[in-house]
Amino acid sequence: MALAPHHTHAPAGEQYARQLLRAHGLRCTAPRLAVLSVLDDSRAHGHLTVAQIQQRLTETGHDVDLTTVYRTVSTLVDANVLHALVIDERVTSYGPTDIPHHHAVCTRCGAIDEVPSERLTTALAEARTGSHFALPESAGLTLHGLCPACQRSAE
Ligand SMILES: [Zn+2]
Ligand SMILES: [Zn+2]
Repeated sequence: MALAPHHTHAPAGEQYARQLLRAHGLRCTAPRLAVLSVLDDSRAHGHLTVAQIQQRLTETGHDVDLTTVYRTVSTLVDANVLHALVIDERVTSYGPTDIPHHHAVCTRCGAIDEVPSERLTTALAEARTGSHFALPESAGLTLHGLCPACQRSAE
């Protein structure tokens, strides 16, 4: 997995994090800013687990322990800044809620990609009318398949 290049000045991710926290009426604490910046930087790679968030924080020179990351993430989930995605009972990943999206999950390695919601809005509407389940607007769809890396290794 490619790592984001090191930033030499105030990263754009931090600006984004400040705006997001203010929009939700939350204080801009250092751990919150750091966690949101990491998730914004990682958007192209989909969602991250708490352990992955902590690893990236360490890589980018932030000294935030796992307990703090857990606490920060659950505060942000409660405030609906982040949402939790449970792939199976053992793995929970987190991603920002600001851009509506669905998820594509790799059946081989568990990588998660965001799928822009406008492409699937019709499909979700169809699913809602054709199902007896109560499917809220925010439910989203989870698609299963092979990520680009696993497609390459399968060739
Ligand atoms: Zn998501
Ligand atoms: Zn994969």
